[in-house]
Amino acid sequence: MIEEYLKRLNRITVPDPKQLGEYIEGLCKFLRVAKVVAYFYDSLKDESMGIGRSTCAYDTGEESTVAVSDRLVTEVNSVAVCEVSIAKGAPAWSYTERERIMLVLKTTMTFISRLRLKEVTDRLSFYDADGYHNLRYFIGHMEKLALEDHLVGKVAIHFNLKHYSLVNQQIGRDAGTFAMKRYYETLKNELDKESVLCRVGGDNFTLICSRTELEHVLDYLSGSATIYDMDTGDRVMISACAGVFIIPEGFELDSPGDIMDKVISASTSARLPQNDDVVYFNEVMSANKERIVHIQQLFPYALRDEEFLVYYQPKIDIETGELYGAEALCRWKRDGSIVPPMEFIPILEQGNEICRLDFYMLDHVCKDIRRWIDKGRPVVTVSVNFSRKHMADVDLLKHIIEIIDKNRIPHNYIEIELTETTTDVEFRDLKRVVGGLQWEGVGTSVDDFGIGYSSLKLIADVPWDVLKVDRSFLPVAEDDEKSNRSIMFNHVVSIAQQLGMECIAEGVETQQQIEILRANKCRYAQGFLFDKPLPVDKFEEKLVNHHYDI
Ligand code: C2E
Ligand code: MG
Ligand code: MG
Repeated sequence: MIEEYLKRLNRITVPDPKQLGEYIEGLCKFLRVAKVVAYFYDSLKDESMGIGRSTCAYDTGEESTVAVSDRLVTEVNSVAVCEVSIAKGAPAWSYTERERIMLVLKTTMTFISRLRLKEVTDRLSFYDADGYHNLRYFIGHMEKLALEDHLVGKVAIHFNLKHYSLVNQQIGRDAGTFAMKRYYETLKNELDKESVLCRVGGDNFTLICSRTELEHVLDYLSGSATIYDMDTGDRVMISACAGVFIIPEGFELDSPGDIMDKVISASTSARLPQNDDVVYFNEVMSANKERIVHIQQLFPYALRDEEFLVYYQPKIDIETGELYGAEALCRWKRDGSIVPPMEFIPILEQGNEICRLDFYMLDHVCKDIRRWIDKGRPVVTVSVNFSRKHMADVDLLKHIIEIIDKNRIPHNYIEIELTETTTDVEFRDLKRVVGGLQWEGVGTSVDDFGIGYSSLKLIADVPWDVLKVDRSFLPVAEDDEKSNRSIMFNHVVSIAQQLGMECIAEGVETQQQIEILRANKCRYAQGFLFDKPLPVDKFEEKLVNHHYDI
């Protein structure tokens, strides 16, 4: 019987407590054992401090004393101790019985050590330093599902916590770390056992779950009040942007990267401000990916061949009807057709190509102004859009001034449009750049104010010259004076004025909106009501006949 037990034990590679329990029970009866207790310690230090777990593998309930024990230290310094007791008053074990017990004990310990070693190495390889399941674990699980044909119908999700740097700022980094873990643990506990959630770095997570759980998961991701201070019970709202891929019938997993690519591209798209917080992957996205690569490859040649054109959109002083300035907007002339910026600028912004394009635009605007000056034509200030990507460039100011000076343009003819920022680091850079431009006499405007993360700090602490109110803030026909949009618009205009900034409304399309601007004392406007962005020759004509009837 013992030989049979040992043989079987050696064949067990996967922990099966039930199977093991049956063997132990049979053996204990046979060997007249009263109690078997095993102690596990994660390290030698834990053992010396008595911090560990214990499992009672067998107990007849009789009063007993420890008669045999064994201690084992695994290769990773975890410790297992096993104690075997005999009932008080029972006849002592014979020499042969004792030998048998020792043999069983040693074999069992070797087995336990193997399992413990696996457990510890699993922990080291499947968890990250902060105790989250890692990508290796996730991929292993996906491969297992694929092998068992259980992948179809499951849902893979990649999600990113929204503006977590702001959450950290708000509650402090330690509390932020705690809250993130809690957010993760709560979701994990709500999922069924088959689902796997892991962190893939920073505030990015992936999840694979059943279709029936999808609705609940998305509901959780859309916003959950999460405790960050156990003492006070204070909570912070955490929400996420997610990319979702529902694994379709007939899907074959070539490599686990396949699914990751899909959910990451969907979640990247969910992070764009113009998109919903949840984006489902579809094949169109795959095609988009190819388009993105294509545009990135074409870009250097298009720049070299000057395929990018400057279009000018007039800005109007509604008190006088005069064209007083313009915004330079980029168009790509490709194979005879004009490509609008939204089709390529977000792509160029994924890398740093956008920076080269912005300098190119500034240079071409300066060249146009130079020509107008040289020919004695009327000249107005032109604003040029600069991506936030420039904020990392410590020499940005120097580059801008070099381009303007190279073309011998008076600095006041140029204005740089920048959009809002989200992080403190960017905010510091933004302040430095705007202050520097102002010092040089180059105008600055905060673009698209009202969408994104507009903060009063942004307009109060940065010395902007102009505030451009985004068209989504501009009241439309249905809005009466009490509508949120009208109230916000009114306040934004008056704050800008009190801070000494010029205020211009973007996207003015109707005469009625002009009346609203007048009522709110917003003097400047830009929009299709006056003109769409115009090619340079058409704009030059407008410069000559610079009056609009309004
Ligand atoms: P933006 O800087 O906010 O530019 C204003 C956009 O609003 C322009 O779109 C303009 O055509 C559009 N617009 C103007 N008036 C109206 C109106 O009355 N109604 C509506 N519906 N739209 C109006 P566009 O030219 O397609 O440019 C889109 C965005 O692309 C720009 O938004 C800007 O963020 C970016 N962009 C364009 N050129 C450049 C560039 O050279 N560099 C950078 N970094 N970004 C650029
Ligand atoms: Mg702009
Ligand atoms: Mg704008």
